[in-house]
Amino acid sequence: KLNSAIVGLPNVGKSTLFNALVENATAQAANFPFCTIEPNVGIAVVPDTLAGAADGEGLGNKFLANIRECDAIVHVVRCFEDDDVIHVSGSVDPLRDIEVINLELTLADMAQVEKRVTRAKVKRSGKSDVDPNEITALEKLLPALNDGRSARSVDLSEDEVAAVKHLGLLTLKPVIYAANVADSDLADGNSFVEQVQKHAEDSRAKVVIVSAQVESELVSLDAGERIEFLESLGVTEEGTGLRALRRLLVTMFCVNWAVKRLPRRKGFSDPKGRNML
Ligand code: GDP
Repeated sequence: KLNSAIVGLPNVGKSTLFNALVENATAQAANFPFCTIEPNVGIAVVPDTLAGAADGEGLGNKFLANIRECDAIVHVVRCFEDDDVIHVSGSVDPLRDIEVINLELTLADMAQVEKRVTRAKVKRSGKSDVDPNEITALEKLLPALNDGRSARSVDLSEDEVAAVKHLGLLTLKPVIYAANVADSDLADGNSFVEQVQKHAEDSRAKVVIVSAQVESELVSLDAGERIEFLESLGVTEEGTGLRALRRLLVTMFCVNWAVKRLPRRKGFSDPKGRNML
């Protein structure tokens, strides 16, 4: 089963989107922060401890541990203007918001990789087996993370990716930016979305344009009303962001499933033998 985490700054639309994904409106999200959207795809809203992140207080360890368990990250980014919805940083600026979260994830990975490098050195001097692929991967990852780049942006061979899988690096996970727009921008996006798309291209991530508000309104409409409502916004049901998000997650699951079925390799250094391919 593929599990995804919904992350993002406060007030960007995570809960609204999650509720729409559950298609069961408000009741569930508060008490049941996990749902199955397809037989093999689960999604969870990561507890909202991010208020501090914007103030430079950092993310909680529990928050990071939650994401570490997931196979993919859905990063909701506010791309709508609405004076009634307070933005934690006072203005709409998707790239700044993305950086706030990504910096935290990168710092956490840096700590993880540094710890592992130290351990690998000790092991090597003790002549115990350390997968050479892990060593070369760590040597590539550390300078990139130090530079503030994601682990995803580093060119690793398949064997190297497999060798560091047990570290659960946050910035190595596939990311989908869910650009949350106003209803009127659902069909064509806006300049904020373009910024996110450019960023995603440069950082090996994907983007879907969604309108959490539209999705939440769709939940209460019958089939005919849905079509009419979507037509008025210039999109089809298939074209709504939520469908696209589901398709992407399912595709990712298929890839993940295939990778897990690659033959096991001997000699990897994870002491407990967990999470090995
Ligand atoms: P979270 O803190 O990220 O979970 O954000 P919420 O889903 O609770 O949304 C915060 C506020 O923004 C709520 O009042 C939502 O109604 C509002 N909101 C969410 N998505 C949209 C949107 O697409 N457009 C507008 N105008 N408001 C939205």
